[in-house]
Amino acid sequence: MELALCSLASGSSGNCFLIKTEETAVLVDAGISGKQAAERLAALGVRMAEISALLITHEHADHIKGLKPMARSSGAKVYASRGTLRGIPFADELTDVQIFTPGDAFSIGDIRVRSFSTSHDAAEPCGFSFEAGSRQISIVTDTGCVTDECFKGMLGADILVLESNHDESVLRMGRYPWFLKQRILSDYGHLSNEAAANALLKLLRYEAEGWGRNKSRLVLLAHLSQENNFPEMALATMSNILGAGGFSEGSGLQLKVLSRTEPSPLYIL
Ligand SMILES: [Zn+2]
Ligand SMILES: [Zn+2]
Repeated sequence: MELALCSLASGSSGNCFLIKTEETAVLVDAGISGKQAAERLAALGVRMAEISALLITHEHADHIKGLKPMARSSGAKVYASRGTLRGIPFADELTDVQIFTPGDAFSIGDIRVRSFSTSHDAAEPCGFSFEAGSRQISIVTDTGCVTDECFKGMLGADILVLESNHDESVLRMGRYPWFLKQRILSDYGHLSNEAAANALLKLLRYEAEGWGRNKSRLVLLAHLSQENNFPEMALATMSNILGAGGFSEGSGLQLKVLSRTEPSPLYIL
């Protein structure tokens, strides 16, 4: 059974991921316009009407901007935590809503979904992992630190979408006001390049110590800041930290950066 992912957009100006099997298609977050989402889906041969669920990680604008038109045009059920739903200003205009608690697992068509809490300055934020057959895709973004729940959500993923938001020194020296720097750097902000790399290193070590994983893995660095990061820098930090820990990109591990403005290819497992 095939499981595939496409990043339609990833970053502070908008987030939207497509997850699909041959039978089922869902979107994670709706942070781009309905029109743009429809166009980007069409380029993959997917119609908005084929989307059966819109899963929302949290209520920040870069994750819900296009939710109303997308819910309307797709007719899809919106999945959100109670806190997230409360934080969505137009929630009462959404007609088909399924509330869950982060930690819950549920099925959408032939995709098994597990939700897990993230650590972010939102009401009740979460990440998701998706399984179909023996394939797994996990999405961990908008989290100030990798909690145990996030770590468990990452385990076993064939494709791991991992936030690599900023370089700490670029952020510290940059032009953002202090309160905003503090917010991003806090445990309830966003994951730095270094924190992302350390989380992945921990995961690889954990698996090497007996979880015996021999499958290959694609890691997609996500939600890069336009202001406080560069794709090359995110990749270099990741490679350096993994390298110092005895892991390198190669046979089993592939690293890529998701663009803020362009859709990614459709990655098929
Ligand atoms: Zn975000
Ligand atoms: Zn956010």
